Amino acid sequence: MPRPIQATIHPDALRHNLARCRQHAPDAKAWAIVKANAYGHGIERAYAGLRGADGFALLDLDEAQRIRDLGWRGPILLLEGVFEARDLELCSRLGLWHTVHCDEQIDMLALHKTHVPHRVFLKMNSGMNRLGFTPTVYRAAWSRLDALTQVGEITLMTHFSDADGSPGVAAQMARFLAATEDLPGERSVGNSAATLRHMGAAASGGDNLAAASDWIRPGIATYGSAPDYPEHDVAHWGLRPAMTLAARIIAVQQLQPGDSVGYGSAFVAERPMRIGVVACGYADGYPRVCPTGTPVLVGGVRSRTVGRVSMDMLTVDLDPVPGAGVGSEVVLWGAAGDAVLPIDEIAHAAGTVGYELMCALAQRVPVQVDAAGAGSA
Ligand SMILES: *Cc1c(COP(=O)(O)O)cnc(C)c1O
Repeated sequence: MPRPIQATIHPDALRHNLARCRQHAPDAKAWAIVKANAYGHGIERAYAGLRGADGFALLDLDEAQRIRDLGWRGPILLLEGVFEARDLELCSRLGLWHTVHCDEQIDMLALHKTHVPHRVFLKMNSGMNRLGFTPTVYRAAWSRLDALTQVGEITLMTHFSDADGSPGVAAQMARFLAATEDLPGERSVGNSAATLRHMGAAASGGDNLAAASDWIRPGIATYGSAPDYPEHDVAHWGLRPAMTLAARIIAVQQLQPGDSVGYGSAFVAERPMRIGVVACGYADGYPRVCPTGTPVLVGGVRSRTVGRVSMDMLTVDLDPVPGAGVGSEVVLWGAAGDAVLPIDEIAHAAGTVGYELMCALAQRVPVQVDAAGAGSA
């Protein structure tokens, strides 16, 4: 028998979450963001749940090829554009749309030979200062692109640094709107946080961006993590976990007061208690920094970790679940029947975000697709 640990991807949850995001901007087209191997879920596994999107957005050319190999004929967008001139040949061949964020990428396009004009997303740096043209030079970049025979439609795009909290999106949005006011073309603003918090019914004040975004770009929310946790959780946004990480108890220990558990004797029992040793450790992608008290579901019942997480094992309190023993299932994040343990709670205990945990699911963990939700879109 293989080591009893398993990740499960839930296509029905992906479908549901994408639909939830769309409700905030019903007239917009939606990219499914599948960079980083679909946030650790696996592009091929996530595809069934996300194929109802209007396009797939990602970073790596080989990931674009994989989406085409799955039979996707619709739009694919490279969110960072091309990295060198010959990437443009693959864009021509696979019909990829690509972001243009710097002059060097325009130079490459100007030298590119193609029969079919490329669809490009021209990125504005409206304040985040990672990628894009500042508002003052944005129009010049647009004009340069517009003059190229290699370029067809130009979509105007920006990305927010603070859509998940304060100061919010208003200042960046104002800069974007002012600098693009009389430019033609579709617009794309809005990651998950911007879509959920600043579009549709949830939008506060005058910052409903839905009208200004022909394409939304929800990533993390489609995978069932709240972009603004702990201010809001997945229940608030109506999102469901798209990944469950579960393992089984492989040993039980009966502790007496004063007994310690694991490396560093980081947990000491104050009373007699049973603990379960679970076949999941930091080499599986469970954060080592999670302290005693990090929530787990044992047989669907909420309990907590005790002591330090080791490479291949972690230990949990069995007192809330007297019936649990060797072989009982422990959900580290995700769903156990109707019980849900949002990945955001574990990420928060580790001082990080759900994104990092999903993306760091270790190679050695076997991953299955939840057959119940794998039907057509
Ligand atoms: C990753 C990414 C997104 C999605 O962000 P989430 O916070 O996961 O919703 C949107 N737009 C761009 C440009 C990105 O790189």
